[in-house]
Amino acid sequence: MRLPIIFSIDDDPQVLQAIQHDLRQQYRKKYRILCTSSVQEALDSLPELKKKGEEVALFLSDQRMPTMNGVEFLAQARKIFPNAKRALLTAYSDIDAAIRAINEVQLDYYIAKPWDPPEEKLYPVLDDLLSDWQSDYRPAYEGLKLVGYQFSPRSHELKDFLAGNLFPYQWLDIEDDPQAQALLDLHGVERKDLPIIVLGDGTVLTQPTIGDVGEKLGLQPKATQDLYDLAIIGAGPAGLAAAVYGGSEGLRTVLIDKRAPGGQAGTSSRIENYLGFPNGLSGADLTRRAITQAQRFGVEFLAPQEVISIKSRGQYKHISMADGSEVVTRAIVLSTGVAYHKLENESLDKYTGAGVYYGAATTEAYAFKGRPVYIVGGGNSAGQGAMYLSRTASEVCICVRRSDLSSTMSQYLIDQIAKTPNIKVLGCTEVVEGLGHEQLECLVLEDMNSKERRTVKAAGLFVFIGTKPYTDWIEMDIIKDPKGFIATGRDLAKYADFKQVWKHDREPFSLETCSAGIFAAGDVRAGAMNRVASAVGEGAMAVSFVHKYLAEN
Ligand SMILES: Cc1cc2nc3c(=O)[nH]c(=O)nc-3n(C[C@H](O)[C@H](O)[C@H](O)COP(=O)(O)OP(=O)(O)OC[C@H]3O[C@@H](n4cnc5c(N)ncnc54)[C@H](O)[C@@H]3O)c2cc1C
Repeated sequence: MRLPIIFSIDDDPQVLQAIQHDLRQQYRKKYRILCTSSVQEALDSLPELKKKGEEVALFLSDQRMPTMNGVEFLAQARKIFPNAKRALLTAYSDIDAAIRAINEVQLDYYIAKPWDPPEEKLYPVLDDLLSDWQSDYRPAYEGLKLVGYQFSPRSHELKDFLAGNLFPYQWLDIEDDPQAQALLDLHGVERKDLPIIVLGDGTVLTQPTIGDVGEKLGLQPKATQDLYDLAIIGAGPAGLAAAVYGGSEGLRTVLIDKRAPGGQAGTSSRIENYLGFPNGLSGADLTRRAITQAQRFGVEFLAPQEVISIKSRGQYKHISMADGSEVVTRAIVLSTGVAYHKLENESLDKYTGAGVYYGAATTEAYAFKGRPVYIVGGGNSAGQGAMYLSRTASEVCICVRRSDLSSTMSQYLIDQIAKTPNIKVLGCTEVVEGLGHEQLECLVLEDMNSKERRTVKAAGLFVFIGTKPYTDWIEMDIIKDPKGFIATGRDLAKYADFKQVWKHDREPFSLETCSAGIFAAGDVRAGAMNRVASAVGEGAMAVSFVHKYLAEN
């Protein structure tokens, strides 16, 4: 933790040395002592200290200085650090000026020179001032700050990226938090330039892209090796498991994700049915453990980096990324999972990121404190989202087309929901319209039996419906089922074009696609179980088939 500062200024080098010595002697364990003999240097350094998030506890200034007197200096310093205590070092002849300054700059104390012995004439006064300062002082957040409009899709995208990549950050809503405007003023940024990210060292990123932020935060978006044994595309539970097994079994392994590690599971507030965690664990916790484990085994992790195509050339596979870079590998595990279906409704489209969110319950829950929110979807993810949102929202209503949740949600979640007084389940109900100005304010709901419509107040709508595999980008001959899920293993034989694309003497391995050496694991695979444990199991299994494939090539 950074120490607060005692800032002293005196143009006389001997006096400065003496005060510096005495301050260090008494306060160096709890405060950083900064001393200067130049008013200009002091005035230049204060805004920089502020930008870096430093705190000044006390200014101690000589009164008689050539370019600016102490009272004027303290007046300037007060504009930048209004909460710091202010004390003046005065000669006997300047006591009048000091007394006037008590009103002018709300001077807290004046100390007559010389102050010997300091135990009697300096420390008791400063101890008093510093203890006063400490009692009002709330340490500022030292890490990364994100400032923006709550209902701005770009702010949401950045929040989602930071949370997904497990970067701690402080969110400051410009319309709600005076600290946000203070930060803009400090860095000379206008509201039209939001969102901004302010890093711990005071660097400001204005309207940054995910790539800019990733680069600044030291994520590694470029591969370091010319050839890998295994490239895993998608770092959800399946990809993470494949990475841990690939890395631990000595394969040169690279794991690539377009957003962050964790996938869907990373957005889960509480996974209660994963083996070995009787009290459940959050998706963020599972992700943190898994990515650390993979990296410990030497796996390279590239994110944010979106794969846009794969081409097979002989026994090598070339993976192209959206930024134009390429990875060459001998085998691939596709673990790109699924995304939620978008609601096909124009009136809701315009609020995406501005009140309408896909998944994202954990990232945005706090913004809906004390306000009503709606959920669309009846699966486990919707149930978990409802439980999480119910901690902050005034009311959570789950809209489902079926009459209840019994056929779509696990019983343990249905029981939790029944015991939560501010969650309501609205069966046979569809959301048909969104209303509002710049952000979502109301929803129109339709009763599917009576076709009756009603308008309800809704600050947020969280959508957890359907699953669409992330496979549109795959152009090569990889057989997919009619919904786009990747066919693997023995199931391939039932597709008419299998014989045209599979030209090997052996049958495809289990989890192998119709392109030899390319495997699929987790939710993206046709017939997957859509569970964390099964995705992890398939990721691990895929690696054992990768070994067999590599052995024959
Ligand atoms: C909110 C929520 C709660 C859940 N709770 C539970 C639970 O309690 N218990 C349970 O068993 N299951 C739960 N599930 C389901 C479980 O999370 C999924 O079954 C599991 O995450 C699937 O893992 P996966 O690795 O196959 O894919 P995903 O988790 O979907 O991960 C796929 C990854 O691939 C990346 N990707 C996609 N396309 C590309 C590309 N072109 N280039 C690079 N990267 C790409 C994505 O960014 C993503 O990170 C929950 C799901 C959700 C959404």
